[in-house]
Amino acid sequence: MKITSTLFMLAVVLLSPIALSGQKPASKDTHNKEIERRAGELHRKALVIDTHMDTLQRVLVRGVDLGQRSTDGQADLPRFKEGGVDAQFFALWPDPIYAPHHAARRTLQLIDAMYNVLGKYPDRVELARNAADVERLVALGKLAALMGIEGGHAIQNDLALLRMFHHLGVTYMTLTHANTNDWADSSTDTPRWGGLNDFGREVVREMNRIGMIVDVSHVSEETVKDVLEATTKPVIASHSSCLALSDHPRNLSDDALRAIARNGGVVGINFYSEFLDQTYHNLMKVMRKDVLSEINKPQQVTPEKLDELAARRLSLLGDPGIPHPPFERILDHIDHAVKVAGIDHVGIGSDLDVIPTPEGMKDVTDLPKITRGLLERGYKEEEIRKILGGNFLRVLKQVTGR
Ligand SMILES: [Zn+2]
Repeated sequence: MKITSTLFMLAVVLLSPIALSGQKPASKDTHNKEIERRAGELHRKALVIDTHMDTLQRVLVRGVDLGQRSTDGQADLPRFKEGGVDAQFFALWPDPIYAPHHAARRTLQLIDAMYNVLGKYPDRVELARNAADVERLVALGKLAALMGIEGGHAIQNDLALLRMFHHLGVTYMTLTHANTNDWADSSTDTPRWGGLNDFGREVVREMNRIGMIVDVSHVSEETVKDVLEATTKPVIASHSSCLALSDHPRNLSDDALRAIARNGGVVGINFYSEFLDQTYHNLMKVMRKDVLSEINKPQQVTPEKLDELAARRLSLLGDPGIPHPPFERILDHIDHAVKVAGIDHVGIGSDLDVIPTPEGMKDVTDLPKITRGLLERGYKEEEIRKILGGNFLRVLKQVTGR
């Protein structure tokens, strides 16, 4: 019965006028509409967690009102809703120019910016500190806002500051930014410790103890190894892509991907064009400019001057005018990470707001296209749910205990 009907269908398809004339089958549109519908429904129902965005910089430096839909930047409360984001990690990034003596102050300014947003829109967004909070807020239809420190120099080598940041609601800390600090090597700076030093290991153990997630984005390969030896809990790479596809030191090697998987951790794939695309990276190498040369001894600069320089550095980000890589590049990196680390260890860490992104990923409202793209590549619905947020929720629960 089955064989007969299959043969019959085959004959119908082969003999149909469309097949004979070699035209595009009319069913292609139907197929597209069907996949669009499935993607939309799945994306709406799935828990979507993005583990890294730089939106708070815009709030602090430019005074952006997140409650209003804007054409500037890549996210705000209306656009998070449209993009189907349920939980968003807001990066607290003390620009490395604040190291070593002003980084905690800068981090607190960013936390203050977050609290101002929370205070202004209590019916639309609320702080989440653990997986239970995320689930509660999703049920209420509110955006779950989580905070992550980006750059261990924020704690100014003091575990008391680490604990106080955690009290204020910081859920993860990326151990370095682009700078090697006093206890951990960065992937984009001169190594000083061959990974972590003793205090760095103490930081990891304290984070494990208080229930804060250790984030290995930005750190060197050796630091990843040292962290994985020291930690007793799963770690994340909040916003990192794959070195095998684009040779940028910020990307993770296959060894690192596998090691994070063995640890039970999650890697959030970054949407930044330069990390995703080798050609783009090569072009950026010759275009990069900075204002860092203006300050030779940052520790002697006034707080006001530092804030002014930070604002100028922020204005240098954005689109350098290089042709955008294809959208498919994001899916390529997700695919690669899934092949190497496994379906339980990959997530989304877009790094949006504001970065140059592939074609078709202009802002957070384009996030449903990831779901659609994964469906088209043959991922099962439960696999897509894991990537969109399920995997990260597991780690959040394991590390915070709730
Ligand atoms: Zn970063």
